[in-house]
Amino acid sequence: MSLIEGRSGAWETVIGLEVHAQVVSESKLFSGASTAFGAEANAQVSLVDAAMPGTLPVVNERCVEQAVRTGLGLDAEINLVSVFDRKNYFYPDLPQGYQISQYSQSIVGRGAVEIALEDGTRRTVRILRLHLEQDAGKSLHDRDPRKTWVDLNRAGVALMEIVTEPDMRSPEEAAAFMAKLRSILRYLGTCDGNMQEGSLRADVNVSVRRPGEGLGTRCEIKNLNSIRFIRQAAAYEAKRQVEVIEDGGSIEQETRLFDTERGVTRSMRTKEEEHDYRYFPDPDLMPLVLDQAFVDGIRASLPELPDAKKARFVEELGLSDEDADVLVADRDNAEYFEAVAKGRDAKAAANWVIHDLFGALNRSGLSIGESPVTAPKLGGLIDLIQEGTISGRSAKEVFQVMFETGSDAGIVVTERGLEQVSDTGAIEEIVDTVLAEHADRVAEYRSGKTRLLGFFVGQVMKATGGKANPKTVNEILRARLDPAQGRDE
Ligand code: ADP
Ligand code: MG
Repeated sequence: MSLIEGRSGAWETVIGLEVHAQVVSESKLFSGASTAFGAEANAQVSLVDAAMPGTLPVVNERCVEQAVRTGLGLDAEINLVSVFDRKNYFYPDLPQGYQISQYSQSIVGRGAVEIALEDGTRRTVRILRLHLEQDAGKSLHDRDPRKTWVDLNRAGVALMEIVTEPDMRSPEEAAAFMAKLRSILRYLGTCDGNMQEGSLRADVNVSVRRPGEGLGTRCEIKNLNSIRFIRQAAAYEAKRQVEVIEDGGSIEQETRLFDTERGVTRSMRTKEEEHDYRYFPDPDLMPLVLDQAFVDGIRASLPELPDAKKARFVEELGLSDEDADVLVADRDNAEYFEAVAKGRDAKAAANWVIHDLFGALNRSGLSIGESPVTAPKLGGLIDLIQEGTISGRSAKEVFQVMFETGSDAGIVVTERGLEQVSDTGAIEEIVDTVLAEHADRVAEYRSGKTRLLGFFVGQVMKATGGKANPKTVNEILRARLDPAQGRDE
């Protein structure tokens, strides 16, 4: 837990998130219009989305399935009966004059997400509920100097609003939660998690209190579309609230905006009350009733999620906690690693993937799907090391070339003549030369300074350009330097 040191003592930050996640689905929540990103304005608007008189919404089963899948992935209760309500308000990009949402009974109830913090401690963030709702359209202010245009492509697209309990105690915890949630959504395939495109965004509720006291009054910072902004906005807001209170003021519950350029939050409007929206069940839609069999079928099709995958990597493959965390955060990374590790030394595979591959991908700005070194190719490289065909040192060079050219490890090794020398006769000759050149050291060794073995190994490796098989070199050196032992064998 990280406290804020104010003039009058320590303050604790309390954070709860309301996350909007766009559902992965080809069509909208209540119409057949496409949800594809980047289309020309108003090219994907059905009569329902434009709220033409006489049209009626029909719920899209795919969106319902995705919400249930997400609920199960968040370890949450699925409500077999839920209700769609109208949330009434005026906005130019909301042709209906209301948003269809879920208020009194949401499709998903209480759940939990476990987060791991930098220092290794784990915390549980409780999920209060997940409900389905429509997105609004978009006002375009930059097309005309005097007019605002409206694009309804997004109107009616399905969103999942995921609400947490106020369980986070620092901006870092809020950031860790968001990263974990995004990872789970991507594993499930229910939201693409692309925050820059707005598919995933969060309203961050922040309050401060004296440690151990009840909850303080919160402010809600709207629409943050990156994890960094969530951390910055929460940190700024908590400090601001401490200053206001310590200056003798009090916090008004309000909605604030984060100015990403200046790193500050600004008041946008006082918080509207729930009754302002005149929520009532949408008379155009029946209550949403699910079969237990429908839910069970989705449960049976869930993929292995990050926590379970991590436990398996640690327990069955012997990876460290840190390595497992890095590998499972992204499903594609985890799958790549597993393909490399299959039938091989898992720790060696993890090292190559985390250090060499991720390093190279980062430097070149490529995603794992674009890696010139595919999983079978990296596996091939590791096999050559394990078989003793190349040394670990040459392998680094081979990997670089593979990454630049996309070649197979075997081809690079042959082209560059990097095969390790395991031929005993050849190595014996080099060993003898090295020992003859360093007769003084040999004497020191024989008088008990056996640490010098490393020095001799180094000299032999140098003389062979790093290509001698270190195991063979060690054996020959020992046989030469410890003749007694050599004879016994
Ligand atoms: P609203 O729609 O009015 O914003 P919700 O119930 O949808 O209300 O969301 C409330 C959010 O605010 C939840 O994420 C909750 O965890 C968070 N929250 C509630 N009280 C506090 C508080 N005192 N400090 C910080 N966050 C809070
Ligand atoms: Mg809210």
